[in-house]
Amino acid sequence: MSRIDPHHDSRDRGGPAQPLILAQGLKKHFPIRSGLLNRKTATVHAVDGVSFEVRKGETLGIVGESGCGKSTTARLLIGLIELDDGTIVFDGDALGSDLSLKEMRKSVQMVFQDSYASLNPRLTIEESVAFGPKVQGLSDPVKRARDLLARVGLEPGRFAQRYPHELSGGQRQRVNIARALAMSPRLVILDEAVSALDKSVEAQVLNLLADLKEEFGLTYVFISHDLNVVRFVSDRVMVMYLGEVVEVGPVEAIYARQAHPYTASLFSAMPSMDPDNRTLEPPLAGDPPNPVNPPSGCRFHTRCRFAEAICSENKPHLDVFSPDRDHLAACHMRVPHSGHSLADAEVMA
Ligand code: SF4
Repeated sequence: MSRIDPHHDSRDRGGPAQPLILAQGLKKHFPIRSGLLNRKTATVHAVDGVSFEVRKGETLGIVGESGCGKSTTARLLIGLIELDDGTIVFDGDALGSDLSLKEMRKSVQMVFQDSYASLNPRLTIEESVAFGPKVQGLSDPVKRARDLLARVGLEPGRFAQRYPHELSGGQRQRVNIARALAMSPRLVILDEAVSALDKSVEAQVLNLLADLKEEFGLTYVFISHDLNVVRFVSDRVMVMYLGEVVEVGPVEAIYARQAHPYTASLFSAMPSMDPDNRTLEPPLAGDPPNPVNPPSGCRFHTRCRFAEAICSENKPHLDVFSPDRDHLAACHMRVPHSGHSLADAEVMA
């Protein structure tokens, strides 16, 4: 596999200013069916009008509690599930009109949390990595697979003919990374890809991912519940709550000062060794509301200690929070453009 200059990828069509992914108004609702006639009885609002961009060469971290819609959003991006509404534009090409799902899938690959379930137990790891390139008619799939196995730290002479059950979790995840890279993607979605690994193995895989990103000119979407890991790998962070985006911005800005009360509560549970960096926000109480019947207005109002009447009546939209305009939050009470959150106002009062 040749080294790709991230700034001179021949597949780059719109230049660095054009987002690799522009997602607008993504919606995915899942029907709940029951009874003998399998009638639809309710709808889960898994992703509800989510808009964001993934910039070329960045790592966008996506965080939020379980059930917030981050994994569903990832599956929509790769076409594993069908959109109910919204548009996805990949480097200027709209999915479904300018770009087919098949073409999109060559450019976007995904690594899942469960390293064992992701691999066919009947294929050797060489066959697994070579499978995609073979199906796509790429040249020399076996050599490509062996080169990539070597690149992810699995010496082909020792590992190529092994089966998934003969490998450790960390080794299997290296195979899954090699398998994703075998398609020469531009975007790799890592959905809790290191969450099941021991801490020492996790660090090795994170370092490997950082090296591969540089070497192959990749862009990552990194989904995790581990806020420390997200801080370590991300350039920007997007926070989701109950199927919606509530805050997005540069990693340093969000970790230094959360604009949205949900983000502040979420981050308050994060262990920190730095006494200057500990948030005083109380941790989140209770579970998120049922996505079958999400609260009106701001979906966080049932758990927000700053909620006022407007919060249950009107939905807040993402708007600029900090003067640099790159940090956005969806909260009626934040002080726009000021960089001051509700918690700041409370401290100042
Ligand atoms: Fe809390 Fe209201 Fe802001 Fe929602 S809009 S986060 S309920 S203050």
